[in-house]
Amino acid sequence: MPLTRADLATIPRYVAGRNPSDVARESGIAEAVKLASNEVPYGPLPGVVEAVAEAVAQSHRYPDPGVTALRARLGERYDVAPDRIVSGCGSVALAEHIVRAAVVPGDEVLYSWRSFEAYPIIATSSGATSVRVPNTGAHEHDLDAMAAAVTDRTRVAIVCTPNNPTGPAAHRDDLERFLDRVGPDVLVVIDEAYREFVRDPEVPDGLEVARNRPNVVVLRTMSKAWGLAGIRVGWMAADPVVADEVRKVVTPFSVNHVAQAAALAALEAEDEMARRVELVVGERSRVRDALVELRPDVPETQANFVWLPIEDDAVDFAKGCEKRGVIVRPFAGDGVRVTIGTPAENDLFLSVARELLPS
Ligand code: PMP
Repeated sequence: MPLTRADLATIPRYVAGRNPSDVARESGIAEAVKLASNEVPYGPLPGVVEAVAEAVAQSHRYPDPGVTALRARLGERYDVAPDRIVSGCGSVALAEHIVRAAVVPGDEVLYSWRSFEAYPIIATSSGATSVRVPNTGAHEHDLDAMAAAVTDRTRVAIVCTPNNPTGPAAHRDDLERFLDRVGPDVLVVIDEAYREFVRDPEVPDGLEVARNRPNVVVLRTMSKAWGLAGIRVGWMAADPVVADEVRKVVTPFSVNHVAQAAALAALEAEDEMARRVELVVGERSRVRDALVELRPDVPETQANFVWLPIEDDAVDFAKGCEKRGVIVRPFAGDGVRVTIGTPAENDLFLSVARELLPS
């Protein structure tokens, strides 16, 4: 008898972005740049390193399990009552907690595909069945088809907006129509990991959408725009009853003391965060415009990455990029996701893309 569940064999492994020093060594080059994990390339925000150093002095104590100070600060910043906020070890952990709190074996978790690769892992490991609805030809969620795919076993539907890895974000009318059609008995998770990079006014703020809808949960993260990917802090806003139930399944102390201090410090540096995000958004337009010259089918993006829908060429293209010192993220058979980096990193990527991109 295997000691672990047989259905785990069906779960694809989560693939993290490769380490630049490993890639540089393998490729025989001095250094490689990482444009593979949707991080912001400018280092920790001012004040974060000092706050972390100070917090480490309390390492022998358990952290505040209620994450009270951070939830209060987030509540103030985003105008959400702290009893609606749950924080976790990255928003990916919260997505797992939400699904675990909502499903029993045999229930369905609905999401679009391709989307964030953690969703199938979370759904399957929670005993749920994944129901995947293909994206439109423009690499957007097909929200009408998703609404049509709801059954009486659907307990959770996940809307990733902007969508990782393809980039487009759901528009207000489409999202509201989806929520109306889905009704109040399905828990809808709006995953807004890339919210800070959105510039399209048609894209609503999920926190606003969720205000009058108790079945909507919004996921946010400190990993992307706020520059704390390595520290692991995410948060969700939900109806207080839902939030309280999710808290029951959160791993105790999963947001450690150092992480809480780092997140609080980062929130004090919002002006600098916004300045950096603006740089990324400017570079995003430049990179996408350049790529569209090579491949007109590169979709519009509201996130800090672009999607190359090069299908069967994805893996070879990514290998070619690595040989030339640029780490990107291939999704075999589908495409390649490229994170927006510094102007110099983006220039390097574009020169490699001009050399390698199949037309
Ligand atoms: N949601 C989406 C759509 C993501 O792309 C990511 C990170 N790749 C996450 C959630 C998880 O981010 P974190 O756990 O770092 O908060």
